[in-house]
Amino acid sequence: MGTTVVIGAGAAGLAAAYTLERAGADCVVLEKREFSGGRIYGKVVEGCTLDVGAQFFFTRYRETYDIMDKLGIAGDLVRYKPFVGLLRDDNVYVVSQDIKQAFLHPGMMLRAGRMLSSMGKLRAVKFGLKLAALGKKLDFDDPLKAIELDNVSFADYTRANFGDEILEYIAQPVASTLSLGQPEEISAAYGMALTWYIAPGLATLRKGIGQLAEALTEEIKDVRLGTEATRIVMEGGKVKGVEVSDVNGKEVIEADHVVCATLAPEAAGLLGDGLDPTLAGTLKDVKYSACAHVMMGVEGRPLDMLYAIATPRREGLCFSGITENAIKAPGYAPAGKGIIHAYTFGEYGRELLTMDDAAVRDRVLGDIQRVVPTFPDEPVFTEIFRWPEAVCLTGPGHITAVQRMKVGLRDYQGLHLAGEYLGMGSVEAAIHTGVKAAEKVLRVS
Ligand SMILES: Cc1cc2nc3c(=O)[nH]c(=O)nc-3n(C[C@H](O)[C@H](O)[C@H](O)COP(=O)(O)OP(=O)(O)OC[C@H]3O[C@@H](n4cnc5c(N)ncnc54)[C@H](O)[C@@H]3O)c2cc1C
Repeated sequence: MGTTVVIGAGAAGLAAAYTLERAGADCVVLEKREFSGGRIYGKVVEGCTLDVGAQFFFTRYRETYDIMDKLGIAGDLVRYKPFVGLLRDDNVYVVSQDIKQAFLHPGMMLRAGRMLSSMGKLRAVKFGLKLAALGKKLDFDDPLKAIELDNVSFADYTRANFGDEILEYIAQPVASTLSLGQPEEISAAYGMALTWYIAPGLATLRKGIGQLAEALTEEIKDVRLGTEATRIVMEGGKVKGVEVSDVNGKEVIEADHVVCATLAPEAAGLLGDGLDPTLAGTLKDVKYSACAHVMMGVEGRPLDMLYAIATPRREGLCFSGITENAIKAPGYAPAGKGIIHAYTFGEYGRELLTMDDAAVRDRVLGDIQRVVPTFPDEPVFTEIFRWPEAVCLTGPGHITAVQRMKVGLRDYQGLHLAGEYLGMGSVEAAIHTGVKAAEKVLRVS
């Protein structure tokens, strides 16, 4: 069996390469950035662990935990069911994901009940029952199960079935905090799946989400950072290799198989004329949210006991929510310090990408102080990371289009795609598609 070239060292590419090497296959991973992990990238600033991309794993994930088991890092998983707040008309209503905690704080829970009108509460129950009924069909790894919800936006679906209040104070905050897009931009399939996945709780790794990327990278023999694939070389529908460019110039690495684990439009660019225009069109049409992700180190815990405050769009803030990451796991921050993250979203996410650091910081800080008036004017540090493509929006019609494309790709020998967009936008889907691509390489070799 010849070499497999994996393009992209994000969750999907790393999972593919790890699966190949565990099975004894040779592979080379090409990564254009100077770091591996893609959107599961983490770093440490002033003793604080910063999850720069993905923030948590949902406890319902499967493939992600399976790969952690194989890597021997499952013992470092920390599960948490936090207190979260929701801002409505200048009040923060607090709810807990943990039923035991809820009983310990009956007053708080009672107050949370006032967040919705009487009709809203009834409709929230109806929404919850629908979610439970759909549960088995809501699967990031197998989006086809929810095909009946593919063609309608989460916004239209929620408004039509549960009314405007549920759209604005449940669906939109869930959609925007988790996809960084708007409920109009994602399908009902993805919106309901996000709500289904977040319900039972969250998890991280002791050293942050980036620990997964580091553990995978350590196990893979040949990860070439700072090496950009410029073209997938195809002849008569068959993969021949990958053209790369690095500090030494350009070369072609010959390969029998290529796993292309980049963003969808990047995959279309790398395949160029080698791909049927309809299939290329599907890849180019895949949409992502944008986010200027702002992380601030602070003294103390300005959010008190809360992990997150979701800020519905009607409140007019530039972020979908803020989180206190220091409470995710012991050791995330030095004693007495906090790490506040703000996630710009939707049109604000796109607008803030174009602004310089000082302007982004001032805008976000001002909005945080509208939610938490005691928030300091001078954080200990501010880090800003711009994600022009943050999360695959899995918009209306996405699942059907991607399924058609997958069928069309069967005609291409040695070509395998991986990446979150082949499932529903998440680390879980990225890892699942990476593992599946590798298993296919192993099967057909
Ligand atoms: C701010 C933020 C918060 C998020 N929160 C969560 C969360 O809490 N939970 C969750 O499950 N998901 C979350 N996500 C989404 C999640 O991070 C992604 O779905 C997932 O990591 C995507 O993995 P991937 O491998 O498909 O793509 P990527 O991680 O983007 O990997 C693609 C890689 O390919 C490389 N590449 C591209 N072109 C080339 C080329 N020509 N040559 C070589 N290399 C190339 C890129 O540099 C990149 O490293 C979040 C994302 C962001 C940005």
